[in-house]
Amino acid sequence: MELQHVATGNPAQDAMTVLAGLPDAADQGQAVDRLQQLEQAKRMLAAAQAEATHTFLAFREAEERDLRIPQSQHLQGLEAEVGLARGESPYVGGALTLLARALHTVLPNTRAALRSGRVSEYHARLVAEHTNHLRDAHRREIDAAIARRLGTASSSQLRKLIEGHAYRLDRQAAEDRANQNTARRRVCLAPASDNQVYVTAELPTPEGLAVMESLETRARQRQAAHRAFNPDGESLGREQVMTDLFVELLTGQTTARGVTAEIVVVMQDSTVFGDDDLPAWIMGHGPIPAGTAKDWLADPEARKFLRRMYTRPTDGQLVALESSRRCFPDGLAKMLRLRDDTCRTPWCNSSVQDADHRTPWAAGGATSWQNATGLCKRCNQRKEHRGWTYSGSPDELTVTTPTGHAYTVPTRPPLSEIASWNSDPPPLNTTIDIGLPAASVIWAEAA
Ligand SMILES: [Zn+2]
Repeated sequence: MELQHVATGNPAQDAMTVLAGLPDAADQGQAVDRLQQLEQAKRMLAAAQAEATHTFLAFREAEERDLRIPQSQHLQGLEAEVGLARGESPYVGGALTLLARALHTVLPNTRAALRSGRVSEYHARLVAEHTNHLRDAHRREIDAAIARRLGTASSSQLRKLIEGHAYRLDRQAAEDRANQNTARRRVCLAPASDNQVYVTAELPTPEGLAVMESLETRARQRQAAHRAFNPDGESLGREQVMTDLFVELLTGQTTARGVTAEIVVVMQDSTVFGDDDLPAWIMGHGPIPAGTAKDWLADPEARKFLRRMYTRPTDGQLVALESSRRCFPDGLAKMLRLRDDTCRTPWCNSSVQDADHRTPWAAGGATSWQNATGLCKRCNQRKEHRGWTYSGSPDELTVTTPTGHAYTVPTRPPLSEIASWNSDPPPLNTTIDIGLPAASVIWAEAA
C-alpha cells in the first residue's frame, strides 16, 4: 500500500485513508477479492495488536519489578486495560492478553499464521485458550502439529485436533482434568429474545442425562394421564410439558404459572395507565413488550411487587425510587441496579453486584446516589488497584487506567435510551394507588 501521501501520525487513520481511496469493485469477482484482501488486513492488524499487547505487558512487568510490587499483585487489572483499549469487556481483554503472551512464547506457528493473515484472530484465540492448561513443551508440540491446518480447519475441527493431541501427549493430565471437571458445576441465567430466558446448568454428563430422562418420563406420564393442557384447554407438546415440569419441580409450585418471585419492572406512567408502545424493563433481564408486561402484572396467579421508577422529564435519568415497601438507603442499591443495569465499567457485561463509592469512602466520598456506581464484583475490586480511578456523575462515568487513558461512558438508564421522555413526573409527595398489585407509591425527590 502507498502511504506516502498521508502522514497523520496515526497509522490506523493513515491506513483507512488509503483504503477509502481505493476504487469501488467493478464486478462481483473484484468485490470478493476486496473482501478477502480486507480480511487478510484485519488478521495482520490483529497480529500487530498482539505485538502491542505483549510489549505493554513486558513494560508493565519491568515497572513492577522496579517498584518491587509483590508477586501476588503482579499485572493486576492489566487484562481490563487491554479490554478497554480495544472496546471489549475485561473478560475478553483477559483472553486477548493470554493470546498475546502465548503467541510470543509457545505458539510461534500460530503467531506466524496470524501475521501473514492466514488464520483469523478468533482461531488463534482458540489455539491459545484450548492449550492454556498444558505444559509449555506440549503447547509448542501442538502448535507445530496443527500448523498446516491453521487457516483450513473449521473452529470445531481445530478444537478437536487440539484436544486429540493434548490427550495423546499427556494422558494422565487429561484424565485428571476430566476428574476435576466433575466437581465443577454451575447454573446460569441468560436473556433470550422476546421475553424469554435461558436457564442453563453445567454439570457432569450422567447427571445431565438423568435430569432430561426424569423430565421426559414425567412429561410422558402427564400426557398419558391427559393432564397436559393450557388453562384455555389447548393441548401441550412434550417440550412444553417438560419445561413446565422443570419450573414446577425447581420452584415447588403446583403450576408453572403460579411462581412467586419479586420481579422489578420499570415502566413509564403512560405504559402502566395508558396505551402506549414503550416497552417495560425488567431488572437484570432487559426490555419486554408493554402489553406483555401489563398482562403479566395483572395475572392474579403471579405474586409480584411492582416498583416504579420516576425519571427526569428532560432526559429520562432516574431520580427517585418510589415504593411503600422500601425506602432509602435500602432502596439505593436496588435503584442503582435499575439505573445501571449492567456493570458500568465500559463494555463490561457482568450484572451489577456492588453499589460502589465512586470517590472512595476513605477519601471523603459520600454514601449517596450522586457518588454511587453499580459495578460487578471484579470491577469493584480492580478499581482499588494502583493507578485506577472512577469519576463522574450519575449521568456519566469516566474510568482512568494506570497509563492515564480515560474512557467516558454515559450512564443513563437503558430504558431512557429507548423512550422519548416527554411526560412530567407527578407532583412531589403525590400518592398514587396503582391497583394491581396493590402498592401505593409516594413520589419523592432522590436523597
Ligand atoms: Zn464489571
